Amino acid sequence: MPGAKVRTEAPHRMPWTVSEQDFTEGCTRCGKCVEACETAIIITGDGGFPEVDFQRGECTFCGVCADACPVPVFVSREQSPWQKVAEIGESCLSFQSTECRSCRDMCEYSAIRFRLQAGNVAQPVLDVDECSGCGACIKPCPVNAITMSDNNN
Ligand code: SF4
Ligand code: SF4
Ligand code: SF4
Repeated sequence: MPGAKVRTEAPHRMPWTVSEQDFTEGCTRCGKCVEACETAIIITGDGGFPEVDFQRGECTFCGVCADACPVPVFVSREQSPWQKVAEIGESCLSFQSTECRSCRDMCEYSAIRFRLQAGNVAQPVLDVDECSGCGACIKPCPVNAITMSDNNN
């Protein structure tokens, strides 16, 4: 259908959530997490289920969404919050020889470094081991080159 919006990736649930199947079975779509999120990155997504929209900002791992939730769809915060890592796509300005370091400047985990390259501007390199998946680098990117993916390695 022309103009129809087709979803190409699974929604990002909040940190410390149970598996996708258990989440959609357990979540009552009450919206309490949406109201509670301190950075307002939780939106009401497909089917009325809450999901994280990193275009709105970052996750601070405050845990308020988990605290606000009345049903057991969040695991203990002693566990890893999620397996997400950022990915820098081909539209990155640096890959087109234009100087930009906006993402690095926002990353408090120092997961994005710039490698000097002869005859070109410095190129970003993302350290997946350091990346928390917070998403702080996504909104500031002027060309929307950064996406979040699930690192299941
Ligand atoms: S941990 Fe905090 S910032 Fe992250 S999604 Fe939950 S309420 Fe929002
Ligand atoms: S902010 Fe975007 S365009 Fe700029 S260096 Fe980072 S990924 Fe590339
Ligand atoms: S998602 Fe967060 S930790 Fe990972 S590169 Fe972006 S700002 Fe850094």
